[in-house]
Amino acid sequence: MDKLILIKYGELTTKKDNRKFFINTLEKNIRTLIGDNIKITKDRVRMYIECENVDEVALKLKKVFGIYGIVVCHKVNNNIEDVLNKSLEIMDSSLKTFKVVTNRADKSYPIRSMEFSRKLGGMILKNTDFKVDVHNPDITLTVEIRNNGTFVYVNEIRGAGGYPVGIQGTGLLMLSGGIDSPVAGYLTLKRGVNIECLYFESPPHTSVEAKNKVLKLASILNEYSGHVKVHVVPFTEIQEEIFKKCPDTYMITIMRRMMYLIADKYSEKIGAKIIVNGESIGQVASQTLSSMECINNVTNKPVIRPVACLDKLEIINIAEKIGTYETSILPFEDCCTIFVPKHPVINPALSKCIEYEKAFDYEKLIDKCIDGIQVITNFEDDDFSDLL
Ligand code: ATP
Ligand code: MG
Repeated sequence: MDKLILIKYGELTTKKDNRKFFINTLEKNIRTLIGDNIKITKDRVRMYIECENVDEVALKLKKVFGIYGIVVCHKVNNNIEDVLNKSLEIMDSSLKTFKVVTNRADKSYPIRSMEFSRKLGGMILKNTDFKVDVHNPDITLTVEIRNNGTFVYVNEIRGAGGYPVGIQGTGLLMLSGGIDSPVAGYLTLKRGVNIECLYFESPPHTSVEAKNKVLKLASILNEYSGHVKVHVVPFTEIQEEIFKKCPDTYMITIMRRMMYLIADKYSEKIGAKIIVNGESIGQVASQTLSSMECINNVTNKPVIRPVACLDKLEIINIAEKIGTYETSILPFEDCCTIFVPKHPVINPALSKCIEYEKAFDYEKLIDKCIDGIQVITNFEDDDFSDLL
């Protein structure tokens, strides 16, 4: 079987000290996401995957972070005739122009890169109707001459980029059913952070469909990770207390402070180093800079807001690309959309929050919330198709 997949690591290779850990994590992640039925060999610049269904696996690898290029290639002997024969076999004859790029990683190989490209190009010209176009070719034929073999290919698929999930430890993602937080989760996974999700539900004010929608979103994120969990927080009591005891205008601010307090405490419990959410500057009253300052005040954890500086349309573009948009726009009420005051405060004062919060024993309720958290780790058996 001469057809196999070659993987280019990209950004990973610049991190010298951690390179081995990165590459080993990437290998583990590939096995988690693709399955065990593959043979992986790796060195410091390339990984090779041998398997039955090469083209199918190559497409699946597009969801694995830490990969910059995915190439379905052919392994041949390093004599130029063998390379020529394979090249003629894989160059699409309906196309007109080509160029050859040679990468001579094995420096003991006697022909230098430029010379090899020229020679092979000349042989292709002699044997076919192709013309050379070095600036804008229809086909870029690449030959990598390495110690472990010579690899020939014509197409490279762009990988997902980023770092292998897990190399950065864990982040706790506040995942709602909206558009923004799944995108925030995706972007954080991309930086190598393992994501666990925290979802606040308020039954009976929020429905089981709203929760299933969040689980569906988590299952889509899980396609990029393999280790996503959802921690479901029973938030009803706190919300009802806020509704009963705090002024209308401050309800959202205080509710969000409570969410952050729970996220802060729970992240300690599960060993998450950061809190991640889908806040975007100015999007709603609770996301003005003054609101953020006031809400953020309850935690010392780093709060990462990957979409903070993106426009809604930019966020939607990513949501569409990663496959969460269709689910996010399903119309189920979230706990943020119930109990919504007509005029939420835009410039909340910290002193007022602290004063209003004295009206109920939130510390006790927070502990109760944390004790009542339900952890969902397996989305495989769930069928969310009735949601769509
Ligand atoms: P999204 O921002 O994801 O589109 P949304 O617009 O309903 O959803 P916002 O009101 O903008 O949410 O809240 C800002 C952020 O707070 C969300 O992106 C999410 O990270 C977090 N959040 C809101 N509601 C919840 C919830 N019920 N459970 C967990 N996190 C939530
Ligand atoms: Mg939002």
